[in-house]
Amino acid sequence: MDTTILKQMARLITNEKQLNEFITYGGVGAALETIDGNIYTGISIDTACSMGFCAEHSAIAEMLKHGEHKIKALVAVDSEGHAVPPCGRCRELISQLSSTNLQTIIEVQDGVQVLLSEILPYDWKKSLSDQW
Ligand SMILES: [Zn+2]
Repeated sequence: MDTTILKQMARLITNEKQLNEFITYGGVGAALETIDGNIYTGISIDTACSMGFCAEHSAIAEMLKHGEHKIKALVAVDSEGHAVPPCGRCRELISQLSSTNLQTIIEVQDGVQVLLSEILPYDWKKSLSDQW
């Protein structure tokens, strides 16, 4: 799958800003496409005391707000526009939304696409259920 458009959209919203001495935001941007073909975006929030969240989390919240939870593809970019892989917490969140998301295509670095299942081995949920 071509993730060029998702990456361009993620780049458009990525623009790190310092709100005050405690909070910066927008240093990472993410764009995802659902299996229904809709695109949602989100930005990161970085705070003192680790109260922020990832751009992927933000995009997922936007998706859920619109009643969707199955992701075809996802790209997150850093402040220089390069693709970055989701952290472990985001990998787990994406996988818990639906077992079909184990087939989500993720651009983990510029020009390198993998399935979520490839970067989430030994999934603990598979011991409980085949499909969720
Ligand atoms: Zn994350």
